[in-house]
Amino acid sequence: MAVTCEHCGTEQHVGKLAERTAAFCVRCGSLLDTVEPMDLTLGLAWTLAIFVLLFPANLLPLMQASLGTQSRVNYISNGVSALWSDHWPVLAIMFALFAIVFPFVRAALMLLVLGCIRRGRCSSRVGRMFRLAQAIELWAMPDVLVLAGFVVYMRTNVQLEGHIEWGGWCLIMVAGLHMLSPWCLSSHRIWRAIMPDRPVSGREPAISCEVCNMTLPRIYQGCRCPRCAKRLRLRKEYAMHRTAALVIAGYILYFPAYYFSMSYTLQPGGIKWHSIIEGVRELINAGFWELAIIIVITSILIPLLKLLGLSWMLVSVRHPSRKHLVLRTRLYHVIHSIGRWSNVDPFIVALMAPLLSFRGVVEVHVGRAALPFALVVAFTMLAARSFDPRLMWDAMLQKEIANG
Ligand SMILES: [Zn+2]
Ligand SMILES: [Zn+2]
Repeated sequence: MAVTCEHCGTEQHVGKLAERTAAFCVRCGSLLDTVEPMDLTLGLAWTLAIFVLLFPANLLPLMQASLGTQSRVNYISNGVSALWSDHWPVLAIMFALFAIVFPFVRAALMLLVLGCIRRGRCSSRVGRMFRLAQAIELWAMPDVLVLAGFVVYMRTNVQLEGHIEWGGWCLIMVAGLHMLSPWCLSSHRIWRAIMPDRPVSGREPAISCEVCNMTLPRIYQGCRCPRCAKRLRLRKEYAMHRTAALVIAGYILYFPAYYFSMSYTLQPGGIKWHSIIEGVRELINAGFWELAIIIVITSILIPLLKLLGLSWMLVSVRHPSRKHLVLRTRLYHVIHSIGRWSNVDPFIVALMAPLLSFRGVVEVHVGRAALPFALVVAFTMLAARSFDPRLMWDAMLQKEIANG
């Protein structure tokens, strides 16, 4: 069966694979195809557990902080209202989507998809739903929210008394199930259950769907994929222009994101400003080295890696070189999947503001760096999604053909 590598664009032939085996691209080493076992009943139960647990995670308090006789609790929705009342509506909407709406929508779509597969009612409409669920997956962030909640919990316990409440425990379970769901739900298997692959002879030119990787004869170019309804194109449209625009916007916003404060604290001694760097210093001073390292990785290194990595890839399309081409292709895959973890810092502010709000004693508010920082994260995630790594290989091939 003809298969086109989604990372380097090489067309190659893959025979029928046995259970628990995988085929890798001969050119870039990326995973081409795999046959993993999938227990549909377990997958449905897994997804149903995520969907059901999302209700108490959202409706019950996450944490409680006590200061003398006063105590405060926070809910996920409090983060939205705290950002909104501090006059940061864009941040409030982003937090509401990433922390509340997308986890619910993704779990509901997955339940519908798996339910339809179980009943044998598969069509391109089910394919569309699974395509949407996969697109939302990177933006549904209960796991990132749990990491942010853990940092808030540790910080709270430095000066106050903090407890994890039932909503927090449910959210931890949701995050655990969400992170482990690829273990019982193979996307390759789900796509094949929606519609089996169509064998394409190795002799005719082929085109692969960039979403479900179905390979079809090249005459289908411009038509919709029969499995997921995505329009079939040889390469992503305007990939270079879109990626370059988003990366430039990311660089412009990177400096205010680190220069200004993510949050500020009103306390009897005056206002205390907290930038990302100061937050790391405070964690080190409090003895939380591990948390400081996590914040350095998620909030400083990952955004920088994404901007520099994507710039390197853009330049390498214009000035192709075979040197490090496989490394660049793998780096693209890493950048695409880890970008979401940089949202930890904006989430910390959203969780801390309603929890540490003891009027007259201490109040946490959103700083001017929170919006540019959240936009850097969003723009670099969109840039990675817009870029097409196959362009680096195309440019290299064209250069080698031109040089004879
Ligand atoms: Zn490849
Ligand atoms: Zn498709």
